[in-house]
Amino acid sequence: MKKQTVNLVTRSSQRAQSTQRKIKYWPTLIILCELRDLCVLRVIKFAMILFLLVPLFSCLNNEPIQTQVSSVQVHASPENDAIDIPDNYGFSHMQYIPGPLFTLSSNNALPGEPVTVGMIISEGGQTIRAALFDSRDRRIARTTFFPLEDPGTGLLLKAAVLAVPSTALIGNATIKIENDDVVIGELPFSIGHREFYSETIALNQANTDLRTLPDPERTAQSNQLWVIINTIGTEIYTTGPFIRPVTSTRRTSIYGARRIFQYTGGGTDTSIHAGVDYGVPTGTEVMASGRGRVVLARYRILTGNSVILEHMPGVFTIYYHLDSLAVNEGQIVEAGQLLGLSGATGLATGPHLHWEVRVAGENADPDAFLENPIIDKSDILNKLISTTTD
Ligand SMILES: [Zn+2]
Repeated sequence: MKKQTVNLVTRSSQRAQSTQRKIKYWPTLIILCELRDLCVLRVIKFAMILFLLVPLFSCLNNEPIQTQVSSVQVHASPENDAIDIPDNYGFSHMQYIPGPLFTLSSNNALPGEPVTVGMIISEGGQTIRAALFDSRDRRIARTTFFPLEDPGTGLLLKAAVLAVPSTALIGNATIKIENDDVVIGELPFSIGHREFYSETIALNQANTDLRTLPDPERTAQSNQLWVIINTIGTEIYTTGPFIRPVTSTRRTSIYGARRIFQYTGGGTDTSIHAGVDYGVPTGTEVMASGRGRVVLARYRILTGNSVILEHMPGVFTIYYHLDSLAVNEGQIVEAGQLLGLSGATGLATGPHLHWEVRVAGENADPDAFLENPIIDKSDILNKLISTTTD
């Protein structure tokens, strides 16, 4: 017994156990000492009480005893803390998917902004469309998918580019994927709030006549334009982003402005500005916003000397009111290539360049195409492939 009490307690866990043993045997010893009433035993009793109290208080002051230590080992290279993901799932090796896979470049956008839909689907002759429906389930935009990559494994990577109209209802929306008229996929989407300012434009007699007098040629030109901007081709000349067509940043009107035209006779009419106006002097160089094909380069009654470039299926940039043209229809132009010189031809109240972007017929905010690519193939693939490995 004595031997136990004098054992040195050096670890907190052992200390607790030995304290319990002391508490168990000391009362017996103390009683024995009292009964014998012997001097030697009193000394021993005093020593015993000391040995009892010191470890007991020491134990009470200790932190709770840890009986288990969990160990987390972190392996990190001091030079590079990036994580390597094994490339086992490349699209070029995929041969089978349980059904078509879909993804969006973003699941929300503001009016005027584009959204790209990516899809992996089994090869086939179907016409697949992507359509944007607002919170009241009204279709507000629709386009056709076009091929991005065919690795020859029986699966195709496709994309479709849509733009949210400037008049779109704010709130929850849906992008539906349609095979003919059958919905084969639905992706939740959300349209954010955006303010558009309004402007009043007083027109002189010549400009009033341009807008109000019946003119079969003007009507024919409008119909021709409508056909062009609603064409969904197959060629991808660029995936963006676009560049500004002039070096000046001075704007006299912006995208989506709600306009009131005041006619000379006192009447008015309203429209929504479909592009951006740069207030540049006549003769300013106008450049192609991206590589593309010239699908229109001619004089139009309302828009003067006009150029339309096709950049990818359903995506066009438009340049109006030019003083002169430097390109021909059918020509392929590079980004930054001269299209013509700015002016004030057609319905214009002064020299400026009207620059516009059309997506599947819908006007879109040109500024929304300047920062990011319109089609980011690696982003689309990463998102699509992650859906197969979730
Ligand atoms: Zn304009």
